[in-house]
Amino acid sequence: MGKVIAVANQKGGVGKTTTSINVSACLGEKGISTLLIDLDPQGNATSGLGLNHADATKSIYRAILGRKKISEVLVDSMFPTLKVIPSTNELFGAEVELMDVSPRESLLRNCLQEIRDSFEFIIIDCPPSLGVLTVNALCASDSVLIPLQCEYYALEGMAQIFTTIRKIRETINPDLEIEGILLTMQDVRTNLSLEVCENVREKFGEKVFKTVIPRNVRLSEAPSFGKPIILYDKNSKGAETYKQLTEEIINNEKEIIR
Ligand code: ATP
Ligand code: MG
Repeated sequence: MGKVIAVANQKGGVGKTTTSINVSACLGEKGISTLLIDLDPQGNATSGLGLNHADATKSIYRAILGRKKISEVLVDSMFPTLKVIPSTNELFGAEVELMDVSPRESLLRNCLQEIRDSFEFIIIDCPPSLGVLTVNALCASDSVLIPLQCEYYALEGMAQIFTTIRKIRETINPDLEIEGILLTMQDVRTNLSLEVCENVREKFGEKVFKTVIPRNVRLSEAPSFGKPIILYDKNSKGAETYKQLTEEIINNEKEIIR
């Protein structure tokens, strides 16, 4: 069975989408069958892979609402082994539309059943909230990857996401694990950025990925070309570090199997 990883943090702009796109692309490039689900109405993962002009009826919204089978909303990407389920504007309405659906937390998990065996990794890019979409992602996932921007307020809000994870474990998904906390946008020229990283490691220890993603302008340029960093600038620091992170994720999985 494939491993499902939610990339979540209710704080905006911490690198969730950049991480989702680039880890998925690195897995796909290695020939590992991977699915990236864009669960954010903003659709940044979809457009970051140049898929925003794909067939608008192929969307995660249609699958969650039961209007299409999930196997019907898969879209091809630039890598034969990476499929994507895009997000469209319709998803903005989902929070409200799902208000009177019950149980609404397990809709994504239920529709993933059909295709879970077809992929080694399924990566879910979550929106910046802990609303019904993120709860669906956490309910459907084996683990959660939490990107954390190396800045002064980084740790603010961590309590909230950990409380949410605890509640999900106590109720709908007892096996939900922490894949890891990922330090992002590190600026090696400022002491503050380095100090924040050190504090996070002191506080969360083993749970923090060894790989740290530096602030790298090539990473922020790549989405406007609809490309992951390994195709936009394969020699950049951003490409190098996302490849390293991908190896850590693959090794985490191997250790569990052993
Ligand atoms: P949201 O909460 O809105 O979904 P997010 O958590 O998905 O945001 P991203 O969209 O990945 O965050 O990143 C926010 C912005 O920072 C984007 O413009 C992105 O290109 C840029 N960015 C992300 N990571 C880096 C990095 N390591 N170096 C430079 N820029 C980065
Ligand atoms: Mg995002």
